[in-house]
Amino acid sequence: MPELKPLWEIQLLDGRRRVLEIKLREGQMSGDLKEAKNEIEKGRVVFNKLKEKYRSLKRDLKAKELDATSATEQVQSLGEKLYGGMITNIKEINTSSKKLDSLKSMVNRTEDEILGLMEDVEEIKAELEKMSAELNAKAEDYRRMYGSHLANQQNIRQQLAQIPLQRQKLLDNLDVDLWNKYLEMKKKYNDPLARVEKGTCMGCRMGIPFNDMRLLKQGEGLVYCSNCGRLLFWER
Ligand SMILES: [Zn+2]
Repeated sequence: MPELKPLWEIQLLDGRRRVLEIKLREGQMSGDLKEAKNEIEKGRVVFNKLKEKYRSLKRDLKAKELDATSATEQVQSLGEKLYGGMITNIKEINTSSKKLDSLKSMVNRTEDEILGLMEDVEEIKAELEKMSAELNAKAEDYRRMYGSHLANQQNIRQQLAQIPLQRQKLLDNLDVDLWNKYLEMKKKYNDPLARVEKGTCMGCRMGIPFNDMRLLKQGEGLVYCSNCGRLLFWER
């Protein structure tokens, strides 16, 4: 009777290969990685929007500063004219005085606005720095996760790469007729060879009749499960 053990090992090996191939495929679309990447991308969008706001506030600030400078210059030159005696007409003095007051209050207002804007700019700057640090930490996490994911995939590929040689070695020791019979059965069963444990066919979980158990133990000829039809493998 041909030795069933190498056939059993081939079947185990093929099962392992299927499991590894599934792991490899599942790994390629790892949900955790995708989620982490999405989160980083969303964070970047928010960060960029805030950065745009920061730039626009800084532009506003610059414009206000220019306004304040030019108004201050006007205050100075009008003041010189008014108090330097260059304007003598009473009506003109009144008009210029009013203009000067209004310019001064405009300068004050603009300076208040500038202070307010400066506070906003500082606040947003701090927020941007915080977000940037968080994003960097997330990106670092992602790189680490991705690195271990790649190593894991690589490991699976290496294990898979070893299988053909192991399989060939087993095949070399296998009875050709038995192998052909196995291949024929493979059309019907994913796992044509079933191990027998405690008098039970592990293929269908049904008990094996006493007579078949006796035949198995005698080790003469192939014995099939009377329930599922798989070839039975009983190890002493
Ligand atoms: Zn069975």
